[in-house]
Amino acid sequence: MRRSRAGSRARQSADASTLVKMARRLSESGSRIEDQLWQRRLIELINERLARRNDDAIDAALDELAGSSQRAYDDLADIAESCAESTVVDIDGRPHEVVLLALPLLAWSRYRLPTTTLAASVVENLTSQFSGHLLARDTRVAIADHLYSIDQLPEAFSDVRRLTEQLGDAAVERVALHVDPKKLREPIAMLADTRYVLAAIATPAGGPLFHWQELGVDPDAKIGALAAFREQVASVLQPAMTGCRFRVLSPNAFHAALRMADRDLREFSLEAAVAYLKLAYDFSPGGLAAAYGVFGDPEGSAGAEVRVGLAKASDEDEVVEGVVWPLLGDEEEQTLEDVEKALRAVGIVKSVAHTHRFPLEFCDDCGAPLFPNSAGHVVHAEPPEDSEDRPATPLH
Ligand SMILES: [Zn+2]
Repeated sequence: MRRSRAGSRARQSADASTLVKMARRLSESGSRIEDQLWQRRLIELINERLARRNDDAIDAALDELAGSSQRAYDDLADIAESCAESTVVDIDGRPHEVVLLALPLLAWSRYRLPTTTLAASVVENLTSQFSGHLLARDTRVAIADHLYSIDQLPEAFSDVRRLTEQLGDAAVERVALHVDPKKLREPIAMLADTRYVLAAIATPAGGPLFHWQELGVDPDAKIGALAAFREQVASVLQPAMTGCRFRVLSPNAFHAALRMADRDLREFSLEAAVAYLKLAYDFSPGGLAAAYGVFGDPEGSAGAEVRVGLAKASDEDEVVEGVVWPLLGDEEEQTLEDVEKALRAVGIVKSVAHTHRFPLEFCDDCGAPLFPNSAGHVVHAEPPEDSEDRPATPLH
C-alpha cells in the first residue's frame, strides 16, 4: 500500500516536471515550427491526463510556473484550457472536432437571479439561433438544458473535459443534454451576476466552426451575425429571466467566455447597484457619494479587489449598497482609474478614492463583503432606514 502510494506520488512529480520543462522551452521558442512541436507534445501529455481524469500533474506544473515564469505559465494554461474544452468524436466514420462554448448573460434583479432548467422549447429555439446565425454549414450543435451560475460550472480541467465529451456526444445525436440540477451547487445570491448557457459544436476536423470562416464569406459577417444572435437570444431567454434586467454577451470558447464575462460584470454590477438604488429607494445617481479603495492581503496582491461603497451624499457614512470590482490581473492604479470612469459614466459625481490598502474583510454573520465609506471606515452595507420600501433588510 505504502509503496504504491509513494510510487504514484513520485510519478506525479515526474509528470509535472516534464510539463514544466516543455512549457519553459515552448515559451523560449522563437519559431512557429519549434512552437508547434512543443505544443503537440504538451497536448498529447495533457490529453492523456484528462482522459484519466487526473488534474494533479497539470495543476502542480501550473503552480510551479506561476511563481517562476509568466510566459510559460500562460502557454501551459492556454494549452490545458483548450484541451479541456475540446475533444474529437466520430460521425459516420469521419473525425469531428468538438469545442465547448459558453454563452454568458449579465443579469441583475431585486429578487433571486434564476439558475434553472430551460424548457424544451427554449432549448430548441436556442439551438436554431446558434445554427441560423453563427454556425458553419457542416456543424452540429447541442445545448445543455440548464441556465448555470458561475458556481455551478465545472472548474477542474478534467470536469470541463467531461462536460465537453457529454455535450459532444449529444451533438453527434443532435439532441439536448439534460442536466440534473440536484447535482449542481447552490449559487451564492448577488444583486448582479453572470449566467451561462453551455453548448458544444462539432465540425469535420479542420473545418470551420462559424459561417464567417467559410471560404468566400466576408470575415466581418461575424459582426452583424453576433448582433442578430444576441438580440434573438435575449427574447428567447426572456421567460427564464422574469424579474431580471439582463444583457446577452457573445458566445465564445468556454474559458475565454468566462474571462470576458468576469470583466464585463464589473461595470455592469456598478450600473445595477445604481439602478437598484433608484428603483428601490428613488435615490438618483447625482445624489449618491461613492468611496472606494483596494482590498487585499496586506502582503502581495493575490485575490485583491476594489470595493466601492455607495451612500447618500447627504449621509456619507452610511453605506447603502456596495460593489465588488475584482482586479482580474489588472494594475491597481489602472483599475482605480477605471472605477472612477465607471462612476462618472453612471452619473455619480461625488467620490473618494482611498489610497491605503484595506484588509479583505467580510461580515462574521452573513459573509457579505464590507465596504469603505467616505471617512475611510469599513462598514456593512445597510438599506436606508428612512425608506418606506425596505427590501432585503439583513436579519442580524
Ligand atoms: Zn452581515
